[in-house]
Amino acid sequence: MTLIELIQQRPAVLIALTAGLGLLVGSFLNVVIYRLPLMLQREWRQQCCEFLELDEHKFSKADPVAQHKVFTLAKPDSHCPQCNAPVRAWQNIPILSYVLLGGRCASCKAAISLRYPLVEAATGLLSAMVAWQFGASLLTLALLVFTWSLIALTMIDFDHQLLPDNITLPLLWLGLLVNTLLPVGLASPGDAVLGATLGYLSLWSLYWAFKLLTGKEGMGYGDFKLLAALGAWMGWQSLLLIVILSSLVGAIVGISLLVLRGRDRNIPIPFGPYLAGAGCIALLWGDALQRLYLQWMT
Ligand SMILES: [Zn+2]
Repeated sequence: MTLIELIQQRPAVLIALTAGLGLLVGSFLNVVIYRLPLMLQREWRQQCCEFLELDEHKFSKADPVAQHKVFTLAKPDSHCPQCNAPVRAWQNIPILSYVLLGGRCASCKAAISLRYPLVEAATGLLSAMVAWQFGASLLTLALLVFTWSLIALTMIDFDHQLLPDNITLPLLWLGLLVNTLLPVGLASPGDAVLGATLGYLSLWSLYWAFKLLTGKEGMGYGDFKLLAALGAWMGWQSLLLIVILSSLVGAIVGISLLVLRGRDRNIPIPFGPYLAGAGCIALLWGDALQRLYLQWMT
């Protein structure tokens, strides 16, 4: 029996393999989440200096990774930010290494953020759930890429209030392609194009209405692009559910933050994580939620 046959006949094997793959990808996502925003900030600083004809070296102090001449997803190799000790292969096993190391750097004992194993675990779990829901198919493979992108976007937006175009725009195109080229997609090509357009326009109009009424900016252009991408993957029919879910969770978290921390109303709370979270929920449980809603209404 080949591996493909085994996967098709035994869903448990597929789910276990996908969970393992998810853990490894989660480890890579940690790198993307940390490095991509710093790479972009460096690029933007260089462009600003070039445009304003300023000496870039004067501003490189503002670069948190200034000591690295080359800073990409691949270079430099992973190292402890405290003592610069390289992370060895055995210390790079998802979750397990964190447990074995007791959550501390092997050489300087500086604490390693709990976020790293949590992102790995979440990626493994969500990947397994996608495989469980959608079975062994090309669509599942595409949906894994979709899910991983949403995880990276969630964490980057949470850290920096930034949804990089390098992720949102390819995600949008990929959604349109998947629904056009795959024999079984999530939406018809027409519904996907409408989803992308309406997704962008709905938040764009909301943004301008809010800005004209209050003079404040409630969200950013990255949010429009993210909802456009979600619409491209799941079709325009899913947009209402996604917006309702994200506003609901956003309102609950926002109000709790106000109450718990007395957070200043004017500090922006990123909207991207709620959109991405709602997109994930709509993907995994959208049909069930819709049925529940219809039953409740009639
Ligand atoms: Zn260290």
